Amino acid sequence: THQIHIVGGGLAGSEAAWQLAERGIRVRLSEMRGVEGTPAHQTDHLAELVCSNSFRSDDPDRNAVGLLHAEMRALGSLILAKADAHRVPAGSALAVDRDGYSAAVTEAIDAHPNIELVRERIDTLPQGPSIIATGPLTGALLAEAIKAETGEEALAFFDAIAPIVHRDSIDMSVAWFQSRWNKGDGSDYINCPMNKEEYLAFHTALLEGEKGEFKEWEKNTPYFEGCMPVEVMADRGTDTLRYGPMKPVGLDDPRTGRWPYAVVQLRQDNALGTLWNIVGFQTKLKHAEQVRIFRMIPGLEKAEFARLGGLHRNTFLQSPKLLDPELRLKSRPTLRFAGQITGCEGYVESAAIGMLAGRFAAAELLGEPITPPPPETALGALLGHVTGGANAETYQPMNVNFGLFPPIELRAKKADRKPLMAARAREALARWQAA
Ligand code: FAD
Repeated sequence: THQIHIVGGGLAGSEAAWQLAERGIRVRLSEMRGVEGTPAHQTDHLAELVCSNSFRSDDPDRNAVGLLHAEMRALGSLILAKADAHRVPAGSALAVDRDGYSAAVTEAIDAHPNIELVRERIDTLPQGPSIIATGPLTGALLAEAIKAETGEEALAFFDAIAPIVHRDSIDMSVAWFQSRWNKGDGSDYINCPMNKEEYLAFHTALLEGEKGEFKEWEKNTPYFEGCMPVEVMADRGTDTLRYGPMKPVGLDDPRTGRWPYAVVQLRQDNALGTLWNIVGFQTKLKHAEQVRIFRMIPGLEKAEFARLGGLHRNTFLQSPKLLDPELRLKSRPTLRFAGQITGCEGYVESAAIGMLAGRFAAAELLGEPITPPPPETALGALLGHVTGGANAETYQPMNVNFGLFPPIELRAKKADRKPLMAARAREALARWQAA
């Protein structure tokens, strides 16, 4: 018999199971893949990476996610250990051979004497101690059960993907580099101008373009304001886009010296500067329609798309309101939540919250005191954001970043702040581990 039930064998659930099992707690880990798939996963491996094979920057001094890697390694993370073991060359990023990595996680979990891995779908909230780590694509019935328990209406929303264009396919005799009001270093955005006629034709095309159907489970889900499809915004009024993502103010077209009627902005999407995403253009338009309509944009007539836009469901709780600092549901403290369903974003962050949920649950079951990691650490900063730092009403999924850390008090130069925060984090982690 198990002492704790973990639902979901993704990034968070696998890490939580490992942390508990390593402390001698008997775990039942329920994963539905193997019996039933999700719209995004391809295999029945645990902790599968559904998209990119990158855990992002591995730089512990200048990047918050790199620092999070380092802290997770220091605390014996299974996910980081297997990622390190299956690393592929990716500059300063940690990228992995996705199959080797997820097969290794599955093997480690399967072989652990304290873990019983069961391929089953769970549709109701477990009664005893448990961790829900079912991710952005939580099964529909379980999502209903969570809603019934939390009483929150906004459990599901859409994540948004904007189309990405190859830089060398943009006509720079029409488009130009400039940040609004010349803020930043001047090359942060590429701007494509529209006159009134072009704007109105584009607006009509967005409204008339053929859209993809929402799946049955996606219908009646409220849009999140920050990721509203461009065509839905267009539908709100002729000028809505001109006051939103297509706002021309502060952008001087070098050919006229004036602000255009409307502007489409592209922002750099990769370090090489070869890929640029169209800002605010997440869309449910069909792929062929996206190509046709977005090529109406002056400067993008010959655009080649590295990725077209999309929207996918993302299930998450209003955690800052619903969870206590130990990731327990306030209304039902035997239940913990972990991973992306708590509103963190990304593979590493999900695994990190899984790690904390597992350690907290283990301490509770062993009757040991629980001291959450200090807010100066990446783990603590992320946990603080999820369980209270953020405004619950406007809570949005977020990657770990130095903006979540307490500010540095020294009058440090901007370039020195991140290394100082990282050094402070290392000291804080060491003190916390020693205590
Ligand atoms: P998951 O890894 O999704 O794990 C949840 C697990 O729970 C799954 O294995 C699922 O099968 C299982 N499950 C769900 N419901 C039930 C149930 N009722 N019973 C039993 N098992 C259940 N993040 C990145 O960092 N980089 C990316 O490139 C990226 N791309 C993404 C693309 C898509 C399409 C999606 C949906 C997400 C993407 N993410 C990406 C986010 C990524 O999914 C999360 O960061 C991460 O996988 C979340 O970890 P998790 O453990 O919370 O959820």
